[in-house]
Amino acid sequence: MHYPEVPVPAILPTVRQVVRLCMVVITVGTGCSKTPVTERVQFNLIPDGIMTPLGRTTYREMLSSERLETGTQRHVRLKKVGRRVSKVANRKDYKWRYALIKDDDTINAWCLPGGKIAFYSGILPVLRNEAGMSFVMGHEVAHATAHHSAERLSQQLAFAGGIAALYMYLDGNTDLKDETKNLIIGALGLGTQLGFVLPFSRKHEKEADIIGMMYMARAGYPPEEAVKVWSRMNQASDGGRMPVFLSTHPSHGQRKRNLRDWMPQAQKRYARNALAEDTQRVVWPANSR
Ligand SMILES: [Zn+2]
Repeated sequence: MHYPEVPVPAILPTVRQVVRLCMVVITVGTGCSKTPVTERVQFNLIPDGIMTPLGRTTYREMLSSERLETGTQRHVRLKKVGRRVSKVANRKDYKWRYALIKDDDTINAWCLPGGKIAFYSGILPVLRNEAGMSFVMGHEVAHATAHHSAERLSQQLAFAGGIAALYMYLDGNTDLKDETKNLIIGALGLGTQLGFVLPFSRKHEKEADIIGMMYMARAGYPPEEAVKVWSRMNQASDGGRMPVFLSTHPSHGQRKRNLRDWMPQAQKRYARNALAEDTQRVVWPANSR
């Protein structure tokens, strides 16, 4: 895959940028952390203090060009599932948001750093029920809590020029070239919307699946539904409607096998936390659009 080069900004850094750069340098020394659930050691150059505002700004920008659905029954349901799943992720410092974009043709969902989540209405018939929604919700929450964007951004931006460009973006600098902006937004996992495909790595996708299934189970949803969601996602693509969620989230039989490997652990968590209500009741039939 080809990535554009990041141009080195031509202006001198402001005091604020220098202070922020120092913050990053300090973080380099203590930048090792572990992902939740899978406990993979990762090395991030970019702390939440940088990523969260970046996620918030990008969220506003992304949603400003979409038709949002608010206050409807399905948006209320999305927020309910979102609150339950994000609660078990135990990141009270994140301000979680759950937007429903009215777009029946797009089968997709995404999450930005700091817990800014969006679902497209086109994904609802694939999710079919609240349990299905809870898996994709868990997957998206996991991308945020496992700092996948920060990890990728650290890898992709050349340190000196790239980090300086990131600060310029955060400061609302409009002089940045479009290709630089696209690289930053692409690193957040939203490249597809800009026609700039930059999917998460297979490693991150696999990890988000596993963590997401554990989150859904701890939130009280039956984890078996996670495997069924992937089957329905495949059916949607067989029917000629290629889900963006599938194209940017590489689909392999391997993913279902990974989920089955972790299933016994997920079932134990579910047994302790199962919700009293029937979360597998069909609320979005396959033909509802
Ligand atoms: Zn993903």
